[in-house]
Amino acid sequence: MIDDKMEKIVSLCKRRGFIYPACEIYGGFANSYSFGPYGAQLKKNIKDIWWKMFVEDRSDIIGLDGPIMLHPKAWQASGHTEGFNDALVDCKKCQRRFRADHLIENAVGVDLEGDIPGLNKVIKDNNVKCPECAGQDWTEVRTMNMMFQTEMNGIDEPVYLRPETAGAIFVEFKSVLDSMRVKLPFGIAQIGKAFRNEIVARNFIFRVREFEQMEIEYFFNPEEDWETMFSSWLEKQKNFTRALGISGKNIREYEHPQAKLSHYSKKTIDIEYNFPFGHSELFGLAHRGDFDLTAHSKASGQSLEYLDPESGKKFTPHVLEPTFGVERALLAALCEAYTEEEVDTDKRVVLKFPKQIAPVKVAVFPLLKNKPKLVEKATEVFDLLKGKFTCEFDDNGNVGKRYRRQDEIGTPYCVTVDFDTLEKDNTVTVRDRDTMEQERVKIEELSEFFDKKFSQ
Ligand SMILES: [Zn+2]
Repeated sequence: MIDDKMEKIVSLCKRRGFIYPACEIYGGFANSYSFGPYGAQLKKNIKDIWWKMFVEDRSDIIGLDGPIMLHPKAWQASGHTEGFNDALVDCKKCQRRFRADHLIENAVGVDLEGDIPGLNKVIKDNNVKCPECAGQDWTEVRTMNMMFQTEMNGIDEPVYLRPETAGAIFVEFKSVLDSMRVKLPFGIAQIGKAFRNEIVARNFIFRVREFEQMEIEYFFNPEEDWETMFSSWLEKQKNFTRALGISGKNIREYEHPQAKLSHYSKKTIDIEYNFPFGHSELFGLAHRGDFDLTAHSKASGQSLEYLDPESGKKFTPHVLEPTFGVERALLAALCEAYTEEEVDTDKRVVLKFPKQIAPVKVAVFPLLKNKPKLVEKATEVFDLLKGKFTCEFDDNGNVGKRYRRQDEIGTPYCVTVDFDTLEKDNTVTVRDRDTMEQERVKIEELSEFFDKKFSQ
Protein backbone atom coordinates (compact mmCIF):
# COMPACT_ATOMS: atom_id res chain seq x y z
CA MET A 1 0.00 0.00 0.00
CA ILE A 2 2.75 2.42 1.02
CA ASP A 3 5.10 1.51 -1.83
CA ASP A 4 2.05 1.74 -3.96
CA LYS A 5 1.77 5.46 -3.23
CA MET A 6 5.40 6.01 -4.20
CA GLU A 7 4.88 4.06 -7.41
CA LYS A 8 1.83 6.11 -8.26
CA ILE A 9 3.75 9.34 -7.72
CA VAL A 10 6.68 8.14 -9.86
CA SER A 11 4.29 7.17 -12.63
CA LEU A 12 2.34 10.44 -12.45
CA CYS A 13 5.61 12.41 -12.55
CA LYS A 14 6.63 10.69 -15.77
CA ARG A 15 3.20 10.75 -17.40
CA ARG A 16 2.58 14.41 -16.67
CA GLY A 17 6.02 15.84 -17.38
CA PHE A 18 7.37 16.44 -13.87
CA ILE A 19 10.29 14.00 -13.66
CA TYR A 20 11.67 11.55 -16.23
CA PRO A 21 14.25 8.82 -15.70
CA ALA A 22 17.24 10.40 -17.49
CA CYS A 23 18.55 9.12 -20.82
CA GLU A 24 15.80 6.57 -21.29
CA ILE A 25 16.56 6.22 -25.00
CA TYR A 26 19.91 4.76 -23.88
CA GLY A 27 18.32 2.50 -21.31
CA GLY A 28 18.50 5.02 -18.46
CA PHE A 29 21.59 6.20 -16.63
CA ALA A 30 22.81 5.54 -13.11
CA ASN A 31 19.71 6.47 -11.17
CA SER A 32 19.62 9.99 -12.60
CA TYR A 33 16.55 12.00 -13.50
CA SER A 34 15.55 14.92 -15.68
CA PHE A 35 13.02 17.46 -14.53
CA GLY A 36 10.37 17.90 -17.22
CA PRO A 37 8.53 21.17 -17.87
CA TYR A 38 6.31 21.07 -14.75
CA GLY A 39 9.07 19.65 -12.55
CA ALA A 40 11.49 22.38 -13.66
CA GLN A 41 8.89 25.06 -12.86
CA LEU A 42 8.01 23.47 -9.51
CA LYS A 43 11.70 23.32 -8.60
CA LYS A 44 12.18 26.95 -9.59
CA ASN A 45 9.15 28.02 -7.51
CA ILE A 46 10.53 26.20 -4.45
CA LYS A 47 13.94 27.83 -4.86
CA ASP A 48 12.36 31.26 -5.44
CA ILE A 49 10.31 30.99 -2.23
CA TRP A 50 13.40 29.93 -0.31
CA TRP A 51 15.51 32.77 -1.72
CA LYS A 52 12.77 35.30 -0.95
CA MET A 53 12.21 33.95 2.57
CA PHE A 54 15.87 33.67 3.57
CA VAL A 55 17.66 36.30 1.46
CA GLU A 56 15.38 39.01 0.05
CA ASP A 57 13.10 39.34 3.07
CA ARG A 58 15.98 39.54 5.56
CA SER A 59 18.51 42.29 6.19
CA ASP A 60 21.02 39.92 7.85
CA ILE A 61 21.48 37.39 5.01
CA ILE A 62 23.14 37.96 1.65
CA GLY A 63 23.42 35.71 -1.39
CA LEU A 64 26.38 34.13 -3.12
CA ASP A 65 26.86 32.02 -6.25
CA GLY A 66 30.23 30.29 -6.09
CA PRO A 67 31.84 27.93 -8.60
CA ILE A 68 31.23 24.17 -8.70
CA MET A 69 35.00 23.57 -8.94
CA LEU A 70 36.97 25.20 -6.12
CA HIS A 71 40.73 25.35 -5.67
CA PRO A 72 41.81 21.77 -4.73
CA LYS A 73 43.43 23.20 -1.57
CA ALA A 74 39.98 24.17 -0.32
CA TRP A 75 38.87 20.52 -0.18
CA GLN A 76 42.13 19.50 1.45
CA ALA A 77 41.59 22.17 4.12
CA SER A 78 37.98 21.16 4.80
CA GLY A 79 39.01 17.51 5.14
CA HIS A 80 37.00 16.28 2.14
CA THR A 81 39.96 14.99 0.11
CA GLU A 82 41.09 12.86 3.04
CA GLY A 83 37.90 11.96 4.83
CA PHE A 84 34.75 12.31 2.70
CA ASN A 85 34.49 8.56 2.28
CA ASP A 86 31.93 5.79 2.14
CA ALA A 87 32.70 2.22 3.19
CA LEU A 88 31.87 -0.13 0.32
CA VAL A 89 31.57 -3.87 0.00
CA ASP A 90 30.82 -6.01 -3.08
CA CYS A 91 28.88 -9.27 -3.24
CA LYS A 92 31.16 -11.71 -5.07
CA LYS A 93 28.21 -13.76 -6.30
CA CYS A 94 26.05 -11.08 -7.99
CA GLN A 95 28.71 -8.32 -8.17
CA ARG A 96 26.38 -5.79 -6.58
CA ARG A 97 27.94 -3.04 -4.48
CA PHE A 98 26.60 -1.87 -1.12
CA ARG A 99 27.39 0.70 1.51
CA ALA A 100 28.81 -1.56 4.20
CA ASP A 101 27.31 0.39 7.10
CA HIS A 102 23.82 0.32 5.55
CA LEU A 103 24.12 -3.38 4.76
CA ILE A 104 24.98 -4.15 8.38
CA GLU A 105 22.47 -1.78 9.86
CA ASN A 106 19.70 -3.48 7.87
CA ALA A 107 20.96 -7.02 8.54
CA VAL A 108 22.12 -6.85 12.14
CA GLY A 109 20.77 -3.53 13.42
CA VAL A 110 24.07 -2.03 14.55
CA ASP A 111 25.45 1.28 13.38
CA LEU A 112 29.15 1.05 12.59
CA GLU A 113 29.56 3.98 10.23
CA GLY A 114 33.24 4.68 9.61
CA ASP A 115 34.58 1.62 11.50
CA ILE A 116 36.19 -0.49 8.75
CA PRO A 117 37.61 -3.36 10.91
CA GLY A 118 34.29 -3.47 12.81
CA LEU A 119 32.31 -3.69 9.57
CA ASN A 120 34.51 -6.53 8.23
CA LYS A 121 34.18 -8.44 11.48
CA VAL A 122 30.39 -8.12 11.72
CA ILE A 123 29.91 -9.25 8.11
CA LYS A 124 32.01 -12.40 8.80
CA ASP A 125 30.70 -13.15 12.29
CA ASN A 126 27.06 -12.90 11.23
CA ASN A 127 27.33 -14.48 7.79
CA VAL A 128 25.45 -11.48 6.43
CA LYS A 129 23.41 -12.32 3.35
CA CYS A 130 23.34 -10.28 0.16
CA PRO A 131 19.93 -8.57 -0.01
CA GLU A 132 19.85 -9.13 -3.78
CA CYS A 133 21.00 -12.74 -4.26
CA ALA A 134 21.30 -14.13 -0.69
CA GLY A 135 25.00 -14.88 -1.34
CA GLN A 136 27.39 -14.78 1.63
CA ASP A 137 30.70 -14.25 -0.11
CA TRP A 138 31.93 -10.68 0.30
CA THR A 139 34.96 -8.65 -0.67
CA GLU A 140 36.83 -6.81 2.10
CA VAL A 141 35.20 -3.54 3.12
CA ARG A 142 37.12 -0.60 1.67
CA THR A 143 36.71 3.15 1.60
CA MET A 144 36.05 5.24 -1.47
CA ASN A 145 36.11 9.02 -1.67
CA MET A 146 32.71 10.35 -2.67
CA MET A 147 33.93 13.38 -4.60
CA PHE A 148 33.78 13.27 -8.40
CA GLN A 149 37.22 13.97 -9.76
CA THR A 150 38.11 15.73 -12.98
CA GLU A 151 41.02 17.64 -14.43
CA MET A 152 41.47 21.21 -15.51
CA ASN A 153 43.86 22.64 -18.11
CA GLY A 154 46.92 24.14 -16.49
CA ILE A 155 46.24 22.68 -13.04
CA ASP A 156 48.57 19.87 -11.98
CA GLU A 157 46.46 18.27 -9.27
CA PRO A 158 43.02 16.67 -9.55
CA VAL A 159 40.05 19.03 -9.42
CA TYR A 160 36.78 18.02 -7.75
CA LEU A 161 33.13 18.78 -8.33
CA ARG A 162 31.87 20.20 -5.03
CA PRO A 163 30.20 17.64 -2.76
CA GLU A 164 28.37 20.49 -0.97
CA THR A 165 27.70 24.14 -1.73
CA ALA A 166 28.96 25.40 1.65
CA GLY A 167 32.65 25.29 0.64
CA ALA A 168 32.50 28.45 -1.48
CA ILE A 169 30.77 30.36 1.33
CA PHE A 170 33.75 29.82 3.67
CA VAL A 171 36.30 30.41 0.92
CA GLU A 172 34.70 33.76 0.00
CA PHE A 173 34.13 34.84 3.60
CA LYS A 174 37.01 37.35 3.41
CA SER A 175 35.80 38.83 0.10
CA VAL A 176 32.36 39.31 1.63
CA LEU A 177 33.81 41.00 4.73
CA ASP A 178 35.96 43.27 2.54
CA SER A 179 33.18 44.29 0.17
CA MET A 180 29.95 44.30 2.19
CA ARG A 181 28.96 46.20 5.32
CA VAL A 182 28.07 43.09 7.27
CA LYS A 183 27.82 42.93 11.05
CA LEU A 184 27.57 39.77 13.12
CA PRO A 185 25.35 37.87 13.27
CA PHE A 186 24.90 37.55 9.50
CA GLY A 187 24.43 34.79 6.98
CA ILE A 188 25.57 33.93 3.47
CA ALA A 189 23.16 31.88 1.40
CA GLN A 190 23.68 29.86 -1.73
CA ILE A 191 21.64 27.63 -4.04
CA GLY A 192 23.39 25.28 -6.40
CA LYS A 193 24.30 21.82 -7.56
CA ALA A 194 26.47 19.45 -5.59
CA PHE A 195 27.83 16.02 -6.55
CA ARG A 196 28.44 12.87 -4.52
CA ASN A 197 29.58 9.59 -5.95
CA GLU A 198 27.44 7.55 -3.58
CA ILE A 199 25.96 4.09 -3.60
CA VAL A 200 22.35 4.97 -4.23
CA ALA A 201 19.33 3.05 -2.99
CA ARG A 202 16.38 3.29 -5.33
CA ASN A 203 14.14 5.86 -3.71
CA PHE A 204 13.32 7.96 -6.76
CA ILE A 205 14.90 11.43 -6.40
CA PHE A 206 15.46 11.11 -2.63
CA ARG A 207 19.16 10.35 -3.06
CA VAL A 208 20.79 11.18 -6.37
CA ARG A 209 24.45 11.73 -7.22
CA GLU A 210 23.84 15.11 -8.77
CA PHE A 211 21.54 17.24 -6.65
CA GLU A 212 20.78 20.77 -5.57
CA GLN A 213 21.23 22.33 -2.18
CA MET A 214 19.97 25.52 -0.59
CA GLU A 215 22.42 26.33 2.19
CA ILE A 216 23.11 29.12 4.64
CA GLU A 217 26.14 29.68 6.81
CA TYR A 218 25.02 31.90 9.67
CA PHE A 219 28.02 33.49 11.40
CA PHE A 220 27.87 34.72 14.98
CA ASN A 221 30.01 35.85 17.90
CA PRO A 222 30.93 32.73 19.94
CA GLU A 223 30.09 34.66 23.10
CA GLU A 224 26.47 34.87 22.01
CA ASP A 225 23.75 32.47 23.14
CA TRP A 226 23.91 29.97 20.29
CA GLU A 227 21.19 27.71 21.69
CA THR A 228 18.48 30.34 21.27
CA MET A 229 19.74 31.02 17.77
CA PHE A 230 19.70 27.28 17.02
CA SER A 231 16.05 26.90 18.14
CA SER A 232 15.04 29.92 16.13
CA TRP A 233 16.70 28.49 13.00
CA LEU A 234 14.94 25.17 13.50
CA GLU A 235 11.64 27.05 13.67
CA LYS A 236 12.44 28.92 10.44
CA GLN A 237 13.25 25.68 8.68
CA LYS A 238 9.90 24.30 9.78
CA ASN A 239 8.18 27.46 8.50
CA PHE A 240 9.68 26.67 5.13
CA THR A 241 8.18 23.15 5.19
CA ARG A 242 4.79 24.81 5.76
CA ALA A 243 5.33 26.97 2.68
CA LEU A 244 5.70 23.69 0.76
CA GLY A 245 2.30 22.63 2.06
CA ILE A 246 3.76 20.04 4.46
CA SER A 247 1.67 19.33 7.52
CA GLY A 248 3.38 19.39 10.91
CA LYS A 249 2.25 15.85 11.70
CA ASN A 250 4.51 14.50 8.95
CA ILE A 251 7.58 16.27 10.31
CA ARG A 252 9.78 15.12 13.18
CA GLU A 253 13.19 16.01 14.55
CA TYR A 254 16.11 13.67 14.89
CA GLU A 255 18.97 14.85 17.05
CA HIS A 256 22.34 13.26 16.28
CA PRO A 257 23.71 11.63 19.44
CA GLN A 258 26.77 13.32 20.95
CA ALA A 259 28.98 10.32 20.18
CA LYS A 260 28.28 10.59 16.44
CA LEU A 261 28.81 14.33 16.14
CA SER A 262 31.90 15.68 14.41
CA HIS A 263 34.40 16.85 17.00
CA TYR A 264 33.72 20.51 16.20
CA SER A 265 29.93 20.33 16.30
CA LYS A 266 27.93 21.15 19.43
CA LYS A 267 24.60 20.02 17.99
CA THR A 268 23.06 18.64 14.80
CA ILE A 269 19.36 18.08 14.16
CA ASP A 270 17.74 16.59 11.08
CA ILE A 271 14.22 17.57 10.15
CA GLU A 272 12.67 14.37 8.85
CA TYR A 273 9.64 13.93 6.63
CA ASN A 274 7.34 10.95 6.68
CA PHE A 275 7.97 9.79 3.10
CA PRO A 276 6.00 6.76 1.82
CA PHE A 277 9.24 4.74 2.39
CA GLY A 278 9.57 5.94 6.00
CA HIS A 279 10.87 8.94 7.94
CA SER A 280 13.97 10.30 6.23
CA GLU A 281 16.06 13.43 6.33
CA LEU A 282 14.54 16.43 4.62
CA PHE A 283 16.61 19.32 6.03
CA GLY A 284 19.46 19.61 8.51
CA LEU A 285 20.75 22.13 11.01
CA ALA A 286 24.31 21.88 12.33
CA HIS A 287 26.47 23.87 14.70
CA ARG A 288 29.91 23.82 13.03
CA GLY A 289 31.83 26.00 15.48
CA ASP A 290 34.78 27.76 13.86
CA PHE A 291 36.05 24.57 12.18
CA ASP A 292 35.78 25.72 8.56
CA LEU A 293 37.05 29.30 8.88
CA THR A 294 39.96 28.16 11.05
CA ALA A 295 40.87 25.37 8.62
CA HIS A 296 40.76 27.69 5.57
CA SER A 297 42.68 30.37 7.43
CA LYS A 298 45.44 27.89 8.31
CA ALA A 299 45.63 26.42 4.81
CA SER A 300 45.54 29.75 2.97
CA GLY A 301 47.64 31.76 5.40
CA GLN A 302 44.99 34.51 5.34
CA SER A 303 43.25 35.88 8.40
CA LEU A 304 39.54 35.05 8.39
CA GLU A 305 38.85 36.88 11.61
CA TYR A 306 36.12 39.40 12.16
CA LEU A 307 36.83 42.77 13.74
CA ASP A 308 34.06 43.73 16.11
CA PRO A 309 33.40 47.44 15.56
CA GLU A 310 32.15 48.03 19.13
CA SER A 311 34.68 46.15 21.24
CA GLY A 312 37.56 46.43 18.79
CA LYS A 313 38.21 42.71 19.37
CA LYS A 314 39.22 40.33 16.59
CA PHE A 315 37.95 36.75 16.59
CA THR A 316 36.89 33.88 14.35
CA PRO A 317 33.08 33.68 14.20
CA HIS A 318 31.21 30.45 14.86
CA VAL A 319 28.59 29.24 12.44
CA LEU A 320 25.20 27.53 12.25
CA GLU A 321 24.49 25.72 9.00
CA PRO A 322 20.84 25.27 7.96
CA THR A 323 20.81 23.11 4.86
CA PHE A 324 17.92 22.20 2.56
CA GLY A 325 17.86 19.64 -0.27
CA VAL A 326 15.94 20.89 -3.30
CA GLU A 327 15.01 17.43 -4.65
CA ARG A 328 13.92 16.27 -1.21
CA ALA A 329 11.83 19.41 -0.68
CA LEU A 330 10.22 18.79 -4.05
CA LEU A 331 9.61 15.11 -3.37
CA ALA A 332 8.07 15.86 0.04
CA ALA A 333 5.84 18.53 -1.53
CA LEU A 334 4.73 15.98 -4.16
CA CYS A 335 4.02 13.25 -1.56
CA GLU A 336 2.09 15.71 0.58
CA ALA A 337 0.08 17.10 -2.34
CA TYR A 338 -0.81 13.72 -3.85
CA THR A 339 -4.50 13.03 -3.21
CA GLU A 340 -6.98 10.48 -4.53
CA GLU A 341 -10.66 11.30 -4.25
CA GLU A 342 -13.91 9.61 -5.19
CA VAL A 343 -15.97 11.84 -7.45
CA ASP A 344 -19.33 10.45 -8.67
CA THR A 345 -18.10 6.82 -8.64
CA ASP A 346 -14.99 7.99 -10.46
CA LYS A 347 -11.50 8.39 -9.01
CA ARG A 348 -9.83 11.78 -9.18
CA VAL A 349 -6.09 12.23 -8.69
CA VAL A 350 -5.12 15.74 -7.69
CA LEU A 351 -1.91 17.39 -6.56
CA LYS A 352 -3.03 19.85 -3.89
CA PHE A 353 0.05 22.06 -3.99
CA PRO A 354 -0.03 25.38 -2.16
CA LYS A 355 -0.83 27.97 -4.84
CA GLN A 356 2.61 29.59 -4.54
CA ILE A 357 4.49 26.48 -5.65
CA ALA A 358 1.99 25.13 -8.23
CA PRO A 359 3.82 24.99 -11.58
CA VAL A 360 0.81 26.31 -13.50
CA LYS A 361 -1.41 28.87 -11.76
CA VAL A 362 -4.26 29.20 -14.27
CA ALA A 363 -5.32 27.03 -17.21
CA VAL A 364 -7.47 28.61 -19.92
CA PHE A 365 -9.82 26.58 -22.15
CA PRO A 366 -12.23 27.27 -24.97
CA LEU A 367 -15.27 25.04 -24.34
CA LEU A 368 -14.92 23.59 -27.83
CA LYS A 369 -11.87 23.41 -30.03
CA ASN A 370 -13.74 23.63 -33.34
CA LYS A 371 -15.55 26.93 -32.69
CA PRO A 372 -13.18 29.71 -33.84
CA LYS A 373 -15.03 32.39 -31.86
CA LEU A 374 -14.56 30.45 -28.60
CA VAL A 375 -10.89 29.81 -29.38
CA GLU A 376 -10.34 33.46 -30.25
CA LYS A 377 -11.95 34.67 -27.02
CA ALA A 378 -10.05 32.09 -24.94
CA THR A 379 -6.79 33.24 -26.56
CA GLU A 380 -7.68 36.82 -25.55
CA VAL A 381 -8.21 35.70 -21.95
CA PHE A 382 -4.95 33.74 -22.02
CA ASP A 383 -3.05 36.80 -23.32
CA LEU A 384 -4.65 38.94 -20.64
CA LEU A 385 -3.45 36.69 -17.80
CA LYS A 386 -0.20 35.16 -19.04
CA GLY A 387 2.12 38.05 -18.17
CA LYS A 388 0.93 38.03 -14.58
CA PHE A 389 0.35 34.38 -13.76
CA THR A 390 1.96 31.23 -15.14
CA CYS A 391 -0.79 30.15 -17.53
CA GLU A 392 -1.47 27.29 -19.87
CA PHE A 393 -3.81 27.14 -22.86
CA ASP A 394 -5.47 23.79 -23.50
CA ASP A 395 -8.01 22.86 -26.15
CA ASN A 396 -7.36 19.10 -26.32
CA GLY A 397 -10.14 16.61 -25.60
CA ASN A 398 -13.26 17.57 -23.69
CA VAL A 399 -13.41 19.92 -20.71
CA GLY A 400 -13.74 17.03 -18.24
CA LYS A 401 -10.48 15.51 -19.46
CA ARG A 402 -8.73 18.88 -19.32
CA TYR A 403 -9.85 19.31 -15.71
CA ARG A 404 -8.44 15.89 -14.82
CA ARG A 405 -5.14 16.72 -16.46
CA GLN A 406 -4.86 20.08 -14.68
CA ASP A 407 -5.79 18.36 -11.38
CA GLU A 408 -2.86 16.00 -11.87
CA ILE A 409 -0.56 18.94 -12.57
CA GLY A 410 -1.91 20.71 -9.50
CA THR A 411 -3.24 23.82 -11.29
CA PRO A 412 -5.30 25.81 -8.75
CA TYR A 413 -7.73 27.38 -11.27
CA CYS A 414 -9.19 26.56 -14.66
CA VAL A 415 -10.95 29.21 -16.75
CA THR A 416 -13.42 28.13 -19.44
CA VAL A 417 -14.74 30.36 -22.21
CA ASP A 418 -18.19 29.12 -23.31
CA PHE A 419 -21.18 30.29 -25.31
CA ASP A 420 -22.47 32.44 -22.44
CA THR A 421 -19.17 34.35 -22.59
CA LEU A 422 -19.83 35.28 -26.20
CA GLU A 423 -23.56 35.68 -26.19
CA LYS A 424 -24.46 36.96 -22.75
CA ASP A 425 -22.33 38.82 -20.26
CA ASN A 426 -18.62 38.44 -21.10
CA THR A 427 -18.12 36.18 -18.08
CA VAL A 428 -16.08 32.96 -17.87
CA THR A 429 -16.29 29.93 -15.60
CA VAL A 430 -13.58 29.72 -12.98
CA ARG A 431 -13.21 26.26 -11.47
CA ASP A 432 -11.41 25.70 -8.16
CA ARG A 433 -9.06 22.68 -8.07
CA ASP A 434 -9.76 21.67 -4.48
CA THR A 435 -13.51 22.30 -4.11
CA MET A 436 -14.28 21.73 -7.81
CA GLU A 437 -16.79 24.56 -7.41
CA GLN A 438 -17.36 26.87 -10.32
CA GLU A 439 -18.21 30.54 -10.39
CA ARG A 440 -18.69 33.07 -13.15
CA VAL A 441 -16.35 36.03 -13.27
CA LYS A 442 -16.35 38.96 -15.69
CA ILE A 443 -13.32 38.90 -17.99
CA GLU A 444 -12.39 42.49 -17.11
CA GLU A 445 -12.34 41.50 -13.41
CA LEU A 446 -10.34 38.28 -13.85
CA SER A 447 -6.91 39.73 -13.22
CA GLU A 448 -7.97 41.35 -9.96
CA PHE A 449 -9.90 38.21 -9.00
CA PHE A 450 -6.74 36.10 -9.30
CA ASP A 451 -4.60 38.74 -7.60
CA LYS A 452 -6.80 38.25 -4.56
CA LYS A 453 -6.84 34.47 -4.82
CA PHE A 454 -3.05 34.21 -5.05
CA SER A 455 -2.40 36.61 -2.21
CA GLN A 456 -4.51 34.54 0.21
ZN1 LIG B 1 24.64 -10.72 -4.26
